[in-house]
Amino acid sequence: MSEDRLCTCNKCGWVHMAVTRGYAAQKVIEFNQYYDKLSEEKQQNFYGGKGATIGIYERCFSCGQTDEDFRPFKEGDCPGGVTIQPTIYEGKKSKEETTCETPKSESP
Ligand SMILES: [Zn+2]
Repeated sequence: MSEDRLCTCNKCGWVHMAVTRGYAAQKVIEFNQYYDKLSEEKQQNFYGGKGATIGIYERCFSCGQTDEDFRPFKEGDCPGGVTIQPTIYEGKKSKEETTCETPKSESP
């Protein structure tokens, strides 16, 4: 699980919780299931009449920069006490796959 990684917007320095696209998509589905059950009035009052889309995870929460311009979090990026919004940041390198192979000991 890597949901607790952080990334920082290069443009404004806002720190986000880095999530994968799959995780974000799942959250959108979950939110919309909840949202659909609300009355129209609540949908309007709480969420401006809009359900969630994957797009909200693709941008800086603060300045709207896309996830193309994020970098991994560094110590000191995050001032204390801020709310951290999730955003999709999977790094810009090829997907790393970790294999957990236990070394085979050759038995005689
Ligand atoms: Zn930003």
